[in-house]
Amino acid sequence: MGERVLIALGGNAMTAPDGSASPADQTRAIELAMTHVSALIREGHQVVLTHGNGPQVGNILLKNQLTAHVVPPVPLDWCGAQTQGTLGTLIMNALDPIPAATVVTRTLVDVDDPAFADPVKPIGQYFSEEEARKFERLGQTWRKFERGWRRVVPSPRPIEILDAGTAVTLMEAGYTIVAAGGGGVPVARGADGRLGGVEAVIDKDLAAAVLARAVGARVLVIATDVPNAVIGYGTPQARPIEAVTVAELRKLQTAGHFGSGSMGPKVEAALRFVEDGGRCSVITSLEHIKDALSGNIGTRVTES
Ligand code: ADP
Ligand code: MG
Repeated sequence: MGERVLIALGGNAMTAPDGSASPADQTRAIELAMTHVSALIREGHQVVLTHGNGPQVGNILLKNQLTAHVVPPVPLDWCGAQTQGTLGTLIMNALDPIPAATVVTRTLVDVDDPAFADPVKPIGQYFSEEEARKFERLGQTWRKFERGWRRVVPSPRPIEILDAGTAVTLMEAGYTIVAAGGGGVPVARGADGRLGGVEAVIDKDLAAAVLARAVGARVLVIATDVPNAVIGYGTPQARPIEAVTVAELRKLQTAGHFGSGSMGPKVEAALRFVEDGGRCSVITSLEHIKDALSGNIGTRVTES
């Protein structure tokens, strides 16, 4: 029987194995990813896809910087909207002849989210200190990392996927849906109640958990480049996590097993989806997603 499933695609579904993001690299990676996704659709499942956009936004930011003297730089919410359009188009081409629709998706955040006072999410390329200081004078926040200086921006919590209703309508009309790419275009309500874009990025896995609930998905699949979340990652004691309850996984999370910019948000998203009433979250590699619904694959999170 078909199930409603949300699949969140990670970086390896959109860039070459070495992270290269030329148009040809992105097209090729998406075509490969869609062979796995279309296998699920052909089994009769209703699929909603979401995807990351880090390298793609990084490319736009670099263009902004190089051409600022001739074309006004565009804000981060515009970068997000642009990448949703481009990646959605590539995904729809790769799924053809399966009917698919891309929804330009806004994600609501709170202007009072503490993340706005503490930008921590690194985006774009590394630069020299001299370059970084120049951008700081334009009002941006930059931090020194091991490999150089990088811009950091707020990553507020996704509250609501504003266009989820559109996604549901199209899904019920028979389309495979691409929505909330890059975590969604970040918008907030000002004091006058009007929506406007904000200079932030939203974690795509956390947004996927909210979208999955909003579209009534039974399963959230987080497709990345490792088959399981691992205890003791990178140590000789490393051990894959298979079936796990919310309570057990929360404990492992508290013990610090999951990298903060990588596996951490995936584990948090998997937990939130089930805590909010979803049936099951699965963290696994892209090649395994067609088996994610049948049971014994990846890290599978359930209530009990
Ligand atoms: P994606 O680009 O698919 O969204 P990331 O690259 O951000 O995903 O995160 C996946 C990576 O997380 C893995 O390739 C691995 O290097 C890293 N990682 C950190 N901690 C863990 C862990 N405990 N178990 C598995 N992978 C981990
Ligand atoms: Mg990655």
